[in-house]
Amino acid sequence: MKLYNSLTRRKDEFQTHTPGHVEMYTCGPTVYHFAHIGNLRSYIMEDVLEKFLRYAGYDVNRVMNITDVGHLASDADTGEDKMLKGAKREHKSVMEIAQFYTDAFFSDCEKLNIKRPDVVQPATGCIDEYIKIVSSLLEKGYAYLAGGNVYFDTSKLERYYVFNDHDEEDLAVGVRDSVEEDQNKRNKADFVLWFTKSKFEDQALKWDSPWGVGYPGWHIECSGISMKYNGEYLDLHCGGIDNAFPHHTNEIAQSEAYLGHPWCPQWFHVHHLNTNSGKMSKSKGEFLTVSLLEEKGYDPLVYRLFCLQSHYRKGLVFSWENLDNAKTTYEKLLKRIAALKPEDGPVDQAVVAEYRQKFLDQVGNDLNTSMGITALYDALKAKTNDATRLAILADFDQVLSLDLLSKAEQLRQQAANQAKTESAGGYTITGEGDPEIDALVLRRAEAKKAKNWAEADAIRDQLKAMGIELTDVPGGAMWKRV
Ligand SMILES: [Zn+2]
Repeated sequence: MKLYNSLTRRKDEFQTHTPGHVEMYTCGPTVYHFAHIGNLRSYIMEDVLEKFLRYAGYDVNRVMNITDVGHLASDADTGEDKMLKGAKREHKSVMEIAQFYTDAFFSDCEKLNIKRPDVVQPATGCIDEYIKIVSSLLEKGYAYLAGGNVYFDTSKLERYYVFNDHDEEDLAVGVRDSVEEDQNKRNKADFVLWFTKSKFEDQALKWDSPWGVGYPGWHIECSGISMKYNGEYLDLHCGGIDNAFPHHTNEIAQSEAYLGHPWCPQWFHVHHLNTNSGKMSKSKGEFLTVSLLEEKGYDPLVYRLFCLQSHYRKGLVFSWENLDNAKTTYEKLLKRIAALKPEDGPVDQAVVAEYRQKFLDQVGNDLNTSMGITALYDALKAKTNDATRLAILADFDQVLSLDLLSKAEQLRQQAANQAKTESAGGYTITGEGDPEIDALVLRRAEAKKAKNWAEADAIRDQLKAMGIELTDVPGGAMWKRV
């Protein structure tokens, strides 16, 4: 597989420290609010990446943190504490907020067919790990104490701005743009490893440490959690592109200073979801959630398809019109799959293997998911029987996770339930074959024939009250439950 690597800024051949095994880490959500669909775009693409690696034969250990402490409004350690902000907004404790939004996040993931990582670790559960790393960084001279807090000294590194395609001055401006400057820092880019003094005297979560009672900075949690569950050599680190700097830059700085060797050679970043008015973000107040999509009648998997149709390294523009297009595509695709006959077999394994190889080559070119969608249409047109076509589609759906076969089967069942009842007079009723409803529909037809409009209308109203939608068609009527 070839994958774009943000560190080398080119497509590299994917490699792992141990052949056939991938240690993968994903920055998880800060659980102070619902995830918006822009955040979820990253998790969808990371899910496809993990599933593709498994499909390609790798065994994967995927780890994700849940940020429930230490993440301030600005990623450069200034501004309000996000968890505290959530707790105040909802008059709940920080722990209650964390539990509620962690559950909400995984419920959204389930609806989007995002697999739960092998390890999910809340940041508050690994305090000893952070203390161990921070102590060692102080010993080695990579960190210093100032104003009660422990800071990482970025000037001690030969190379700090690893994701920087700007020059240092640009980045310094980026840091300066943050809400306020911390006078304790020796260098502008230095960051907090451990807080004991902060303006949040009412910070609910605090732990004892060699530097006093306090709490960890945001960046240290990912290094600590990854080293605990992935080991010293990480193969692949994932996150949204806005995590590249300063968060991932800081993760690399502290991890390599601590380990004394390179930490993670491959970095995968998913780009933003934009609306016509710019990047989708929570700070702007209104944002789109999976629940909102459902309320508006969209299957969450329509959003998954919408994301898969474009490349993860391109900004994606969300609009209702674009989502409607994805919905139409999804429905048409399912209809075509439902029209295939599973009993038209046997499965030709050689053809399945040939399509599988093509899929590996195409999607394996920097996770080209839109080619993966195109491959579904190729499978539908394959010169083979329907059972083989279905086997190919099922194979691809291990990666795409669009529930193609189960949803198509539902459509098939619905069509099979459309029984026809024919009356003696040649009047055909098409519905589910429910005798009670069919009898009412027939009585209405007879009332109409006898020009007894009042009775005909009364029966129609009665059916409506039963949740039945009735349509007159030539030679009969059709009904369905609504
Ligand atoms: Zn992280």
